[in-house]
Amino acid sequence: MPDFLNEAQLELQGRAHDLGQRLAGLDVDPDYPEKLRAEIRSLSKEAGIFSLTQPRDYGGLQGSSTDLTIVRDSLGKWNVGHFPGVFGPSPGLLGQASAELKEAFLDRYLSGEITGGFGFTEPSDATRHTWATSDGEDLIVNGAKSYVTGGSDADFVNTLVELDDGGPAMVLIETNRPGVSIDRRFGSLDGSHHASFVFTDVRVPRMHLIGEAGTGLSRALAQVNSVRMAIAADCVGLCGFVCELIANHIKKVEDKGHNSHAIRIQFGRMRAQTFAVRSATYRTARLIDAGENSVNEVMASKILATETATDLVDSAIQIVGGEALVESHPLASIFRRVRATRLAEGPTDLLHANISRGYLDLDVGRI
Ligand SMILES: Cc1cc2nc3c(=O)[nH]c(=O)nc-3n(C[C@H](O)[C@H](O)[C@H](O)COP(=O)(O)OP(=O)(O)OC[C@H]3O[C@@H](n4cnc5c(N)ncnc54)[C@H](O)[C@@H]3O)c2cc1C
Repeated sequence: MPDFLNEAQLELQGRAHDLGQRLAGLDVDPDYPEKLRAEIRSLSKEAGIFSLTQPRDYGGLQGSSTDLTIVRDSLGKWNVGHFPGVFGPSPGLLGQASAELKEAFLDRYLSGEITGGFGFTEPSDATRHTWATSDGEDLIVNGAKSYVTGGSDADFVNTLVELDDGGPAMVLIETNRPGVSIDRRFGSLDGSHHASFVFTDVRVPRMHLIGEAGTGLSRALAQVNSVRMAIAADCVGLCGFVCELIANHIKKVEDKGHNSHAIRIQFGRMRAQTFAVRSATYRTARLIDAGENSVNEVMASKILATETATDLVDSAIQIVGGEALVESHPLASIFRRVRATRLAEGPTDLLHANISRGYLDLDVGRI
């Protein structure tokens, strides 16, 4: 499909395609996840992909939004974009922390020595959002976060709290601080693992604030935006994977001399839908790279890509039949993964409501 890529981008696309092919051919032994991760990391480094998610200041290649979209799309087409270890850890919110906080955590985090989680979602029965009061040079945090991915093994959680004297703020809380407890560990349909945390009078130095007090929500949302783009680009690639799978299915049906007319019509619809989400996502990546405020476009791309990927994989399962629901079939695992993307990083309805609000109430919506 033509994406108006320049020479460097076409070269990157070629490398990502080759990496995807190699990763797809790996022997995945679930008993040795660390060995697999190391192998993936090494192949990704060799392909010059691993550090695209890391800033130049930290020795990374700092790929543009378009670069990352190209890579994720290409890997998604091989159904390997979700493999652990393909991308190096990026500083995320920590990149905006004070020099002192960065010195204490960032290098160790980027080298993989310590891991972190993101605490945003609250229990549905919470009577008050997680909050903090000031006590001299410390903050005292109380509340709960209900869905922290990787929380069970995390050394810290970047947590959205409501400061009594300053509004929403992001605070880095180490998970071994007195008063921090995990009250539930759970897995979700897509295969990822999470923990819910309770904070009871947790004392944290004020210097653990990430950025100014009062800017927590916008910082958290900026972080969410780049993850939304990553999800959208991966789903665009998965749409391509599903289309290819159905194209092969049609060939098999026709080789047996069966009539494939009905499937061909569905296949045409899938290709047209894939073209639409692909165009929207690449356009959004270019807007981001041009420095435009792209919040609405990112929301729309995430909605379109996740909803379309879900629709396509569901149709593909129906076309292929019961075989597609066998655990080892790629469509079965894609089905589980894409289902989660319609909720994670903002459920579809909520994003639709935000797009409406931007246009109707805030005069900032332009899509
Ligand atoms: C795989 C996965 C990983 C996750 N990882 C993290 C993580 O690391 N950190 C973290 O903090 N959270 C994480 N989450 C939680 C995720 O952010 C929330 O599930 C999501 O924001 C939805 O919140 P909720 O589950 O409370 O559902 P709700 O917000 O209660 O939504 C339920 C339904 O109500 C609808 N709805 C809610 N509000 C409105 C509204 N105002 N207008 C219209 N419709 C509305 C939604 O669209 C949805 O259909 C993860 C979730 C998943 C599935």
